[in-house]
Amino acid sequence: MAKKVLCDKCTGLCCRYFAFPIETPEDREDYDDIRWYLCHKDVTVFVEDDDWYLNINNKCRHLSEKDYSCKLYNRRPKICRGYTIKDCDLTEGEYDYELHFTSDSQMAEYIKIKFGNNITEKKKTKKKRKK
Ligand code: SF4
Ligand code: SF4
Repeated sequence: MAKKVLCDKCTGLCCRYFAFPIETPEDREDYDDIRWYLCHKDVTVFVEDDDWYLNINNKCRHLSEKDYSCKLYNRRPKICRGYTIKDCDLTEGEYDYELHFTSDSQMAEYIKIKFGNNITEKKKTKKKRKK
């Protein structure tokens, strides 16, 4: 019931993005790959319970903008059917992310703090290993 009331007042926030887990970055190159993800429009990256996720803010094509209902309700994918009130963006309020990157410049700053300014450091190390 609580869900129904909430959903009646909602514009379908849960149908306006999707997120999936990515590998936990370990070295500078991994973080730089994530910086590349973040160069793209409407992409963010967040960390929750030590797991890293790529988040794409892109509305489902089956969400009605008239009444915010699902136009595919009877044939909606399994993942939509399994979505429960405890996952709801509204009841949970703002997600308490451990980290949330919304731009490549944020990640560049993070990399600088984490690894320092020497961007050639890793390549030099690799060359040494090859000898
Ligand atoms: S489950 Fe939450 S986010 Fe989704 S429509 Fe209902 S109130 Fe909105
Ligand atoms: S199929 Fe329906 S329930 Fe699933 S994301 Fe799209 S609009 Fe939402």
